[in-house]
Amino acid sequence: MSKGLPKRSEDYSLWYNELVKKADLAENSAVRGCMVIKPYGYSIWEKMQAELDRMFKETGHTNAYFPLFIPKSYLSKEASHVEGFAKECAVVTHYRLKNSEDGSEVIVDPDAKLEEELIVRPTSETVIWSTYKNWIQSYRDLPLLVNQWANVVRWEMRTRLFLRTAEFLWQEGHTAHATKQEAIEETVQMMHVYATFAEQFMALPVVKGVKTENERFAGAEDTYCIEAMMQDGKALQAGTSHFLGQNFAKAFDVKFATKEGKLDFVWGTSWGVSTRLMGALIMAHSDDNGLVLPPKLAPIQVVIVPIYKGEEQLDAISEKAKELMAALRAKGISVKFDNRDTHKPGFKFAEYELKGVPVRIAIGPKDLENNSVEIARRDLLSKQTVSLADVEIGTFVEELLAEIQDSIYQKAKTFQTEHITEVNSWEEFQEVLEKKGGFLSAHWDGTGETEEKIKTLTKATIRCIPLDAKEEAGTCILTGQPSARRVLFAKAY
Ligand code: AMP
Repeated sequence: MSKGLPKRSEDYSLWYNELVKKADLAENSAVRGCMVIKPYGYSIWEKMQAELDRMFKETGHTNAYFPLFIPKSYLSKEASHVEGFAKECAVVTHYRLKNSEDGSEVIVDPDAKLEEELIVRPTSETVIWSTYKNWIQSYRDLPLLVNQWANVVRWEMRTRLFLRTAEFLWQEGHTAHATKQEAIEETVQMMHVYATFAEQFMALPVVKGVKTENERFAGAEDTYCIEAMMQDGKALQAGTSHFLGQNFAKAFDVKFATKEGKLDFVWGTSWGVSTRLMGALIMAHSDDNGLVLPPKLAPIQVVIVPIYKGEEQLDAISEKAKELMAALRAKGISVKFDNRDTHKPGFKFAEYELKGVPVRIAIGPKDLENNSVEIARRDLLSKQTVSLADVEIGTFVEELLAEIQDSIYQKAKTFQTEHITEVNSWEEFQEVLEKKGGFLSAHWDGTGETEEKIKTLTKATIRCIPLDAKEEAGTCILTGQPSARRVLFAKAY
């Protein structure tokens, strides 16, 4: 099968778009910026959801659901929040259509104008804090640890499948606490949860850090984030966790009686990851042959392809395949036997390569004779013949999947380490950014003006102030002003 994928080295961006479509993950829809997530893509998202959901519950959160529509007046209650989101809001003004006078088209019924316009949620802080007002009276009602899985709409101008869409799927955690300290601990904890998910399930190394004021979430006092590096050296903000201070409690008048019997505003956090993680997964590991999926998130971990001529051979191979499937399933491994007679083995091999199935087992008549199988791994495109007399196949494949998971992570980690460069002058900054890319670790004078200037001059933004940044006296690469630590710059998606 000709996959016809462009090469990463020639056009990374086109490679990505084509891969998303050819691997059956998603496609564009009639509405600009919105996408159809196809069954194969959605299966990966479901796996991500399941693991994240488990991790949220392990840290004490429960799920709830809040409405899609937000009264316009709610959004305006927190000044910096509305300022940050105003430019991207879809607004509902009417609730009915009718036939035009001449009957030729359907029009918006001018008599069905809403008294108060509704915003399609770009994020749910306002609707949730307006609800929390009724839920929280005393310190006994705290902490309130709620998450919701939902879709949101941000009318983005430049969109890209998964990475930046107008409508996207995500989870948003919204928690309320009695103390500032506890809310900050929650914010930091959720950043760590995201980092653990990225590294252990997505096989994606990330840098944990804090955003600068310019890049902070509208309405937050601090934004913690995880930043991932794509194969073209660009950064992708993969998840954010916000310390909201008492901003939303004040905007929605959410007060609680403290243990000491005083009234105080509640402290808040919010945190989210979206279908952008799908984009991160695809961009970080895949190659010119197609997707490379870490086994823990692959919808199909093993595919068995029979190589046969005629019914009789297929029957014999099918018997063997059934045995293998039982052994693999006993280990909790997901396996598919592709016995379609409408496609040749070569076509199937290419298809599973494109779709990133981590392990392929081929069985032909020779293998039956020798009691062996051919096992291929997607990440390295390597093959080996394995004698079934020598190994317990379930254990063998289980170990192989673990090895693949680790090897994909190590490869990405090595790439990340090799592409974080310390730079000490403006010349060096520009040269490394242009010639090598990746993350640049550099001193910055801490002002928003310098940050903006560097962005205008080079398109690089401060991705984060890494949590593990050491105190180190230096001078800003642009202005020469004093700086106490290095921050990470990069061009970003
Ligand atoms: P925020 O509420 O802005 O902190 O965003 C929460 C999460 O959603 C972050 O991890 C972002 O990377 C992701 N995100 C923000 N905008 C988009 C978008 N247009 N499409 C997909 N994901 C997004």
